Amino acid sequence: MAWPDFYPTDYLTARRRLRDAAGRFGWHTESHPIAARGPGGGELALDVFTSPRPAPATLILSSGVHGVEGPFGSAVQLFALNSWGNSPPVRVVLVHAVNPFGFAHRRRFNEDNVDLNRNFLLPDQRYTGSPPRYADLDPLLNPPVPPARLDPFPLHAAWKVLKHGLPALKQAIAGGQYDHPRGIFFGGHRPAESVQICGEQLRHWLGESGSVFHLDFHTGLGPWGSFKLLLDIEPTADQRQWLTDRFGVGSFEVSEQNGVAYETVGGFGPWCAARRGDREYLFACAEFGTYGPITVLTAVKRENQAHHWGTAGSAATERAKRRLAEVFVPASAAWRSRALEQAWELVDSAARGLASRAT
Ligand SMILES: [Zn+2]
Repeated sequence: MAWPDFYPTDYLTARRRLRDAAGRFGWHTESHPIAARGPGGGELALDVFTSPRPAPATLILSSGVHGVEGPFGSAVQLFALNSWGNSPPVRVVLVHAVNPFGFAHRRRFNEDNVDLNRNFLLPDQRYTGSPPRYADLDPLLNPPVPPARLDPFPLHAAWKVLKHGLPALKQAIAGGQYDHPRGIFFGGHRPAESVQICGEQLRHWLGESGSVFHLDFHTGLGPWGSFKLLLDIEPTADQRQWLTDRFGVGSFEVSEQNGVAYETVGGFGPWCAARRGDREYLFACAEFGTYGPITVLTAVKRENQAHHWGTAGSAATERAKRRLAEVFVPASAAWRSRALEQAWELVDSAARGLASRAT
């Protein structure tokens, strides 16, 4: 199979192919259904696949925290599973479709319009508040009408970027907000069902491993076809050295306003790290770049309008969803090959590095 063949056409295909491969290679499979349904009423679940033998270190690969980005992470998981067969170098846990609703319905957000990566709050954090500028931008970001064919939004957004600068604007818009339930980048008012499932299962997924490296796959940030590891927590000197040795100088970045990323609350990483117990837990978002920030933001905004204010199944809604899927997982065979090849190198190197460190 060529690289692009590993990308699923939809959620059901993604799920079936992973389950088939896991069964073939003797991986343990478990499913955690959520209450929301897929298109046509089908079941939606977080599926978890664990490699056959225990080991002192665990590599976790998760996909689809942002549903529409799921086909990429799912392709990485399927490729890794097929490549390792029944004997990966370390214990591996694949968490497939953390936001199965968004994956199946081609949304970044979940069944309650929640951005899961703003919903994993720590015990001292509250589901309230917004960046100061978000309320000013709300009419521009979240107009209560279906998306128009001709949308001046990209021009307005470009103007705002000139006025405020991209880092400040990214922070204000994408940093996460808890006041506009139909708006984009809404963090929710309570832990989402997916987050509750992770809360119940994480300890079990970690097993007896004393050392965990977790790669959470994302797309839509950074230059076309390249990737960056984004860390929400300052790594220790040892971890920095390990990341540099394994993946190269400049392969990772600690989140801050002026980099590729921006500061957020409610991220999956700090939440996992807070539950690590006495294990070492290193978490990174593996972010693969696609289109420019205004193109991506425009697609997110338009699909959100279609979801809340458009007609389900209409041509306009379908166009908005197709566009969203394209900006996060481009159809380009060149992008798909390049991104998956790099992701596999990353995953394979991580697994081998973890195995040699653990022995
Ligand atoms: Zn993402």
